[in-house]
Amino acid sequence: MHLEEMKNEIGSLVLEKGFYNNREDIPKKLLFAFVELGEASDAWKKGAAEEKIAEELIDVIFYLLDASRLACPSVNMDKAFEKKLIKNRCRPYQYGEGHRNK
Ligand SMILES: [Mg+2]
Repeated sequence: MHLEEMKNEIGSLVLEKGFYNNREDIPKKLLFAFVELGEASDAWKKGAAEEKIAEELIDVIFYLLDASRLACPSVNMDKAFEKKLIKNRCRPYQYGEGHRNK
């Protein structure tokens, strides 16, 4: 399943479950993504099974794609991902991590 397909699936799930679904809800969804990141970090720190950590990381993806559905509906997230991947690949070695060698 690709990002656009996932985004559409999340959109139908949101409607089916009556979750927040307005542009004003975007900050909440981004906050929930942070909460899920915290849950993933906590699971890792507690030595949880990899499946549990993966589940929390998937929750992050859910909220990010859900936010993207409302914040930038005209953007194809598959194409946006490919564009960003190329941009990052063009960056120098250890871009932004030069402090590690000091
Ligand atoms: Mg969770």
